[in-house]
Amino acid sequence: MNRRFVPAKPRSNKDLESLSLNLVKHYQPGVINQKQRFDTEEFFDVDLEKLTGVATDYQHLESGIYGYTDTDEMVCAISKELADDPSSEYFFRSTTAHEIAHAVLHVSDYRLRRAILRSVNKKGHDSLRLFHESEIPLYRNPEWQAWRFAGALLMPAQAFLSAVKSGESLRDLSQHFGVNASFVMTRARSLKINVKN
Ligand SMILES: [Zn+2]
Repeated sequence: MNRRFVPAKPRSNKDLESLSLNLVKHYQPGVINQKQRFDTEEFFDVDLEKLTGVATDYQHLESGIYGYTDTDEMVCAISKELADDPSSEYFFRSTTAHEIAHAVLHVSDYRLRRAILRSVNKKGHDSLRLFHESEIPLYRNPEWQAWRFAGALLMPAQAFLSAVKSGESLRDLSQHFGVNASFVMTRARSLKINVKN
Protein backbone atom coordinates (compact mmCIF):
# COMPACT_ATOMS: atom_id res chain seq x y z
CA MET A 1 0.00 0.00 0.00
CA ASN A 2 1.46 3.32 -1.05
CA ARG A 3 -0.89 5.82 0.46
CA ARG A 4 0.36 9.26 1.45
CA PHE A 5 -0.84 11.25 4.44
CA VAL A 6 -0.07 14.27 6.51
CA PRO A 7 1.14 12.86 9.85
CA ALA A 8 -1.32 13.70 12.62
CA LYS A 9 -0.55 14.96 16.09
CA PRO A 10 0.75 11.97 18.08
CA ARG A 11 -1.97 10.02 19.91
CA SER A 12 -1.51 6.96 22.07
CA ASN A 13 -4.06 4.19 22.48
CA LYS A 14 -4.81 5.64 25.90
CA ASP A 15 -5.42 9.13 24.46
CA LEU A 16 -7.80 7.77 21.83
CA GLU A 17 -9.64 5.58 24.35
CA SER A 18 -10.18 8.43 26.77
CA LEU A 19 -11.20 10.96 24.08
CA SER A 20 -13.85 8.65 22.70
CA LEU A 21 -14.99 7.54 26.15
CA ASN A 22 -15.56 11.16 27.15
CA LEU A 23 -17.62 11.67 24.02
CA VAL A 24 -19.75 8.56 24.68
CA LYS A 25 -20.24 9.51 28.34
CA HIS A 26 -21.34 12.99 27.38
CA TYR A 27 -23.66 12.14 24.48
CA GLN A 28 -24.87 8.61 25.14
CA PRO A 29 -23.89 7.19 28.53
CA GLY A 30 -26.32 4.26 28.10
CA VAL A 31 -23.76 2.70 25.73
CA ILE A 32 -21.47 2.04 28.69
CA ASN A 33 -23.86 0.18 30.98
CA GLN A 34 -27.28 -0.21 29.39
CA LYS A 35 -26.46 -2.25 26.29
CA GLN A 36 -27.36 0.59 23.94
CA ARG A 37 -25.63 1.05 20.60
CA PHE A 38 -23.88 4.36 20.04
CA ASP A 39 -26.18 6.18 17.63
CA THR A 40 -23.65 7.31 15.02
CA GLU A 41 -26.29 8.73 12.71
CA GLU A 42 -27.85 10.91 15.40
CA PHE A 43 -24.44 12.14 16.55
CA PHE A 44 -23.35 12.83 12.96
CA ASP A 45 -26.60 14.61 12.04
CA VAL A 46 -27.17 16.59 15.24
CA ASP A 47 -24.01 16.99 17.32
CA LEU A 48 -20.85 16.78 15.23
CA GLU A 49 -21.04 20.24 13.72
CA LYS A 50 -21.83 21.83 17.09
CA LEU A 51 -18.85 20.08 18.63
CA THR A 52 -16.26 20.58 15.86
CA GLY A 53 -17.57 23.28 13.49
CA VAL A 54 -17.35 20.69 10.69
CA ALA A 55 -20.52 20.59 8.58
CA THR A 56 -21.96 17.17 7.78
CA ASP A 57 -23.49 15.94 4.56
CA TYR A 58 -24.61 12.87 2.60
CA GLN A 59 -23.27 12.93 -0.95
CA HIS A 60 -23.10 10.82 -4.08
CA LEU A 61 -19.48 9.67 -3.93
CA GLU A 62 -17.53 7.77 -6.54
CA SER A 63 -17.68 4.01 -6.31
CA GLY A 64 -15.43 2.60 -3.60
CA ILE A 65 -15.45 5.85 -1.58
CA TYR A 66 -17.77 5.77 1.40
CA GLY A 67 -16.86 8.94 3.25
CA TYR A 68 -14.36 11.77 3.49
CA THR A 69 -13.49 14.70 5.72
CA ASP A 70 -12.18 17.89 4.11
CA THR A 71 -10.14 20.09 6.42
CA ASP A 72 -10.24 23.18 4.18
CA GLU A 73 -13.91 23.05 3.37
CA MET A 74 -14.77 21.94 6.92
CA VAL A 75 -17.06 19.23 5.60
CA CYS A 76 -17.50 15.65 6.67
CA ALA A 77 -19.49 13.57 4.16
CA ILE A 78 -20.85 10.04 4.00
CA SER A 79 -21.94 8.21 0.87
CA LYS A 80 -25.65 8.69 0.30
CA GLU A 81 -25.92 5.25 -1.26
CA LEU A 82 -24.36 3.70 1.82
CA ALA A 83 -26.67 5.62 4.15
CA ASP A 84 -29.71 4.53 2.11
CA ASP A 85 -28.75 0.84 1.97
CA PRO A 86 -30.36 -1.01 4.90
CA SER A 87 -28.28 -4.12 4.23
CA SER A 88 -25.08 -2.14 4.96
CA GLU A 89 -26.20 -0.77 8.32
CA TYR A 90 -23.15 -2.00 10.23
CA PHE A 91 -20.68 -0.75 7.63
CA PHE A 92 -22.51 2.58 7.53
CA ARG A 93 -22.09 2.85 11.31
CA SER A 94 -18.35 2.13 11.26
CA THR A 95 -17.76 4.43 8.29
CA THR A 96 -19.62 7.24 10.03
CA ALA A 97 -17.67 6.66 13.25
CA HIS A 98 -14.41 6.78 11.25
CA GLU A 99 -15.28 10.13 9.66
CA ILE A 100 -16.47 11.46 13.04
CA ALA A 101 -13.00 10.58 14.30
CA HIS A 102 -11.32 12.60 11.53
CA ALA A 103 -13.56 15.59 12.29
CA VAL A 104 -12.85 15.37 16.03
CA LEU A 105 -9.14 14.52 15.89
CA HIS A 106 -7.68 15.99 12.72
CA VAL A 107 -9.53 19.03 11.37
CA SER A 108 -8.47 21.51 14.05
CA ASP A 109 -4.98 19.94 14.24
CA TYR A 110 -4.31 20.43 10.51
CA ARG A 111 -5.96 23.86 10.35
CA LEU A 112 -3.85 25.14 13.21
CA ARG A 113 -0.64 23.86 11.63
CA ARG A 114 -1.54 25.48 8.31
CA ALA A 115 -2.32 28.79 10.02
CA ILE A 116 1.10 28.68 11.68
CA LEU A 117 2.78 27.99 8.32
CA ARG A 118 0.92 30.93 6.73
CA SER A 119 2.08 33.23 9.48
CA VAL A 120 5.77 32.27 9.16
CA ASN A 121 6.04 31.87 5.36
CA LYS A 122 6.38 35.21 3.60
CA LYS A 123 4.77 33.84 0.45
CA GLY A 124 1.86 32.44 2.40
CA HIS A 125 2.57 28.78 1.61
CA ASP A 126 0.62 26.63 3.97
CA SER A 127 0.71 23.12 2.49
CA LEU A 128 1.39 20.39 4.99
CA ARG A 129 3.90 17.84 3.76
CA LEU A 130 2.63 14.41 2.78
CA PHE A 131 4.53 11.27 3.72
CA HIS A 132 4.24 7.70 2.56
CA GLU A 133 2.31 5.65 5.05
CA SER A 134 5.38 3.47 5.70
CA GLU A 135 7.31 6.55 6.88
CA ILE A 136 4.69 7.52 9.47
CA PRO A 137 4.75 5.86 12.90
CA LEU A 138 1.44 4.25 13.80
CA TYR A 139 0.69 6.74 16.57
CA ARG A 140 0.88 9.56 14.02
CA ASN A 141 -1.00 7.76 11.23
CA PRO A 142 -4.35 9.57 10.85
CA GLU A 143 -6.07 6.48 9.43
CA TRP A 144 -4.91 4.25 12.27
CA GLN A 145 -6.01 6.92 14.78
CA ALA A 146 -9.43 7.26 13.14
CA TRP A 147 -10.08 3.49 13.17
CA ARG A 148 -8.87 3.14 16.77
CA PHE A 149 -11.13 6.01 17.85
CA ALA A 150 -14.07 4.60 15.87
CA GLY A 151 -13.62 1.19 17.53
CA ALA A 152 -13.62 2.77 20.96
CA LEU A 153 -16.64 4.93 20.10
CA LEU A 154 -18.76 2.00 18.92
CA MET A 155 -17.39 -0.56 21.41
CA PRO A 156 -16.28 1.24 24.59
CA ALA A 157 -13.76 -0.90 26.49
CA GLN A 158 -15.85 -1.32 29.63
CA ALA A 159 -19.02 -2.28 27.74
CA PHE A 160 -17.07 -4.61 25.45
CA LEU A 161 -15.34 -6.36 28.32
CA SER A 162 -18.52 -6.89 30.31
CA ALA A 163 -20.33 -8.20 27.22
CA VAL A 164 -17.54 -10.74 26.64
CA LYS A 165 -17.56 -11.71 30.34
CA SER A 166 -21.32 -12.24 30.21
CA GLY A 167 -20.74 -14.86 27.50
CA GLU A 168 -21.55 -12.96 24.30
CA SER A 169 -20.16 -14.69 21.21
CA LEU A 170 -18.68 -12.96 18.20
CA ARG A 171 -22.11 -12.89 16.60
CA ASP A 172 -23.77 -11.55 19.77
CA LEU A 173 -21.16 -8.81 20.04
CA SER A 174 -21.65 -7.87 16.41
CA GLN A 175 -25.40 -7.45 16.98
CA HIS A 176 -25.00 -5.79 20.36
CA PHE A 177 -22.68 -3.06 19.08
CA GLY A 178 -24.04 -2.91 15.52
CA VAL A 179 -20.74 -3.53 13.74
CA ASN A 180 -19.38 -6.22 11.42
CA ALA A 181 -17.68 -9.25 12.99
CA SER A 182 -14.31 -8.22 11.53
CA PHE A 183 -14.49 -4.92 13.41
CA VAL A 184 -15.39 -6.78 16.63
CA MET A 185 -12.26 -8.91 16.14
CA THR A 186 -10.08 -5.84 15.55
CA ARG A 187 -11.44 -4.30 18.73
CA ALA A 188 -10.88 -7.52 20.69
CA ARG A 189 -7.27 -7.66 19.49
CA SER A 190 -6.58 -4.07 20.42
CA LEU A 191 -8.02 -4.65 23.90
CA LYS A 192 -6.22 -8.03 24.15
CA ILE A 193 -9.47 -9.84 24.86
CA ASN A 194 -10.36 -13.29 23.54
CA VAL A 195 -13.75 -13.62 21.87
CA LYS A 196 -15.40 -16.98 21.30
CA ASN A 197 -17.01 -17.76 17.96
ZN1 LIG B 1 -9.95 7.99 7.01
